[in-house]
Amino acid sequence: MTHKNLISLHGGHSGEFCSHAQDDLEDILLRYMDLGFTRVGITEHIPPGREDFLYPDERKLGLTAADLEKRFEAYFQTIRGLQKKYASRIRIFAGMETETYTGYAAHVKSLIRRFKPDYLVGSVHHVDDVCFDYCREDYDRMVSLCGSHEALYQRYFDLQQDMILSLKPFVVGHFDLIRIFDPDYEKRLAVPTVREKILRNLKLIKSLGLVLDFNLRPLKRGEKEPYLTASIRKTAREMGIPLVPGDDSHGVAEAGGHVEKAIAMLTAEGFATDWPDPVFITGNE
Ligand SMILES: [Zn+2]
Ligand SMILES: [Zn+2]
Repeated sequence: MTHKNLISLHGGHSGEFCSHAQDDLEDILLRYMDLGFTRVGITEHIPPGREDFLYPDERKLGLTAADLEKRFEAYFQTIRGLQKKYASRIRIFAGMETETYTGYAAHVKSLIRRFKPDYLVGSVHHVDDVCFDYCREDYDRMVSLCGSHEALYQRYFDLQQDMILSLKPFVVGHFDLIRIFDPDYEKRLAVPTVREKILRNLKLIKSLGLVLDFNLRPLKRGEKEPYLTASIRKTAREMGIPLVPGDDSHGVAEAGGHVEKAIAMLTAEGFATDWPDPVFITGNE
């Protein structure tokens, strides 16, 4: 494997700008350079816009939505400086990872106008304004509120469709994150009503020319496969949708983690690995 292939288009969350990450952004970028990356996308979480959508870790630290907005402004200032500083060694793309809580489309679009990111990672971490991926208790609560796992999955994929149509993110983040605390996810993803929505969203992604985040965070947790699961990877490959590795790193030790393994997996499964540079897809701002 040649080093020129190493890439991550989702990750680089840093302790400087994210309360559940570690280390300074510059040190994380230096780690990517040490590993031989020539391109990396950094996608810090967007600030919440209002207090209800603070993450528990931010709440615990006593942070407000205004604090996070200031921190996000500092993120863009810092990364723009680092892009220039290291331009001869690595191409850094300054991105941001979105949300789908109430009012998200207008909120994200105002952030886009203000910060002009190089590209977006479009992620769904909330269903009906409840964050489902932070802890199992909240996930289980959402299952009972929705009535069943299948109903939660359906709600998730509908929100994802809405987000893709509203934001046209170059990278669709961890497409099947909804399976995070569900050991029976393979069965669930094969339920016809769920599968139908998966196919619908993949067709939409294909028609808009977007790429899927081959998200490696589950490997870090010791799980058997990244997001997306094998059955969805197969469909994506048949449809010709690119999968691009995303380490979803939250610190120096995680930067670039499992990317070589991911590239080997993609190659073995017949995916192309000549990934395009991320771009901002205009028309939605
Ligand atoms: Zn994070
Ligand atoms: Zn995410």
